[in-house]
Amino acid sequence: MERSISSESWQVNADDPEALTALLDLPEFTVTRLEYDAHLDLLLLMCHPQYDVAVCPTCDTVSAQLHDTTERRVRDLPWAGKRCALVLPARRFKCARCQRPFTERLAAIAPQARSTRRYADYLFEQCRGTTIQAVHRREGLGYKAVEGVYYRLAAQRHSAPTLTTVRRLGIDEIALKKGHGQYVLVLSDLDHGRVLTVLPERTKAALEAYLATWTADQRAAITDVALDLWEPYHLAVQACLPNAQITADRFHVMQNLNERVTEARRAIQRAAPDEEKAQLKGCRWLLVKNRDDLTVEEQAKLEAMFAVSPALQRLHDLKEAFRDVFETAPDRPTALEQLTEWVQDVEQRGVSGLTAFVATLRNWWEVILNYFHDRLSSGFVEGMNNKLKLIKRLAYGYRNFSHFRLRVLVECDGGLESH
Ligand SMILES: [Zn+2]
Repeated sequence: MERSISSESWQVNADDPEALTALLDLPEFTVTRLEYDAHLDLLLLMCHPQYDVAVCPTCDTVSAQLHDTTERRVRDLPWAGKRCALVLPARRFKCARCQRPFTERLAAIAPQARSTRRYADYLFEQCRGTTIQAVHRREGLGYKAVEGVYYRLAAQRHSAPTLTTVRRLGIDEIALKKGHGQYVLVLSDLDHGRVLTVLPERTKAALEAYLATWTADQRAAITDVALDLWEPYHLAVQACLPNAQITADRFHVMQNLNERVTEARRAIQRAAPDEEKAQLKGCRWLLVKNRDDLTVEEQAKLEAMFAVSPALQRLHDLKEAFRDVFETAPDRPTALEQLTEWVQDVEQRGVSGLTAFVATLRNWWEVILNYFHDRLSSGFVEGMNNKLKLIKRLAYGYRNFSHFRLRVLVECDGGLESH
């Protein structure tokens, strides 16, 4: 008899004993009774195995000789909004051939598991985009139980990303905890918007060791690499990826500029007379925020600050002019011309705070200009950085690197959109 729920419409009478079995939709079990435990606020479905025999996992012989039975309780998907558990016999059979007892294997429940496979899948999905803590509370399960399910499924689903289609690679470092100097390296497939791996160290050796796990063909297939402005990565890429053109990632270039702008702003504020200092308070974010993103109030506030400090205005104008080049330059020659003018402008106006940034530009000149070839990456890298920030916040900082790595691989796999 077919017991699973068919895709067609169907109906059962409330007193039909088959109804609960059909609703449960696990062909291995017949539901014999439904109970509600008010103390636990839990629906209990008493289940009886469909078959009186089991197959020995060692020799595949069918055995009907029951060795022993204990009661097993496993969580399952909620019914009508109520938490639900199945109560079923955990049976051991004795194999006539091996003469050894074995535990019956079930399709719906993994060995030793305390939830059905489908409920584990459900828990895994629940954890996406939120904390394990939140799911543990919502579902009334132990924290360790939810954590165990999440990372076990995460490891199964994201063990080996395919590398055959990777052409453009992004290499990014992120701080696991702000200010603690603990950095990890994130490698991404830029065309498919997914993270390939997370390395526990941001060293040349770690990057080279990882790239060495690729085949020669996979390494040769990489045409472009978007990088942070850090020498060891460049050396590793040059050594391992023979056909890759290196591009400075726009996101990091702008980040670098904004850091220098912030330093220069601090110097301006420090040097300002006391009566101006008060008026310049709170300009930190206004100054680094993109001009197009400012609200009317923020614009007005910024204008008021510029009236007090022309130096601040010069700084802001230069930052925006630089950003304009990245937004609008149609090709490499135009960008070359505009960036050269920008550097001259900074030097002529004597904006001392940007001297360090000009040095960085000169240092990485070609690599930064490569961006204007085909405007590699950006959107994904910036989006990914925001997502990683969220992941770090979700976990209140990660003590366990392998957990962090799996979280990132799950949340940034490109196939599934974030919640
Ligand atoms: Zn056997």
